[in-house]
Amino acid sequence: MKIGVLAVQGAFIEHEHMIEEIGHTAIEIRQRDDLEGLDGLILPGGESTVQGQLLNKLDMMKDIKNMISNGLPTLATCAGLILLSEHIADDDTVHIGTLPVTIKRNAYGRQLSSFVTNADIKHIGNYPMTFIRAPYIENVSDGVEVLASVDNHIVAAKYNNQIGLSFHPELTGDTRIHEYFLSTIK
Ligand code: GLN
Repeated sequence: MKIGVLAVQGAFIEHEHMIEEIGHTAIEIRQRDDLEGLDGLILPGGESTVQGQLLNKLDMMKDIKNMISNGLPTLATCAGLILLSEHIADDDTVHIGTLPVTIKRNAYGRQLSSFVTNADIKHIGNYPMTFIRAPYIENVSDGVEVLASVDNHIVAAKYNNQIGLSFHPELTGDTRIHEYFLSTIK
């Protein structure tokens, strides 16, 4: 399968390695033309404000939004999850906005800004989760499946073709999340 990895900013190379490790093709998405013929899309972590600005500047925001709305399987991690969320707490900004959740940015504050913990994820099992200045999901609309929570905060959710994670599965060497994502692609 051909999986596009948004490669304008942030931790995209690690996702490419994961996709290749499990035997599929990773395509770096840097401009509109790269969006042709994808079986799935990964929105990596990084800095959501910068990524959002670049998507507008490169004239990709609308195309990506349409492709996801039309069913393109999408895995979003950390900043990618912020881009995908319909609402950002205490902020009027909407980037792609196709995932009906409210996300809280930098939700763990300064002291706990980075940490690793293990928790269960539905469909996958116990998984090592790396959080880096991570958001969490404050609220989900009907139809959103909660996949994982840590300390009563939602850190993974699925809505139809979209999976959003607060943490970084590409940094653990554990390919199960990428494999699960690929298994959802018909
Ligand atoms: N704090 C970043 C943001 O708000 C997200 C951090 C990350 O992707 N690891 O965009």
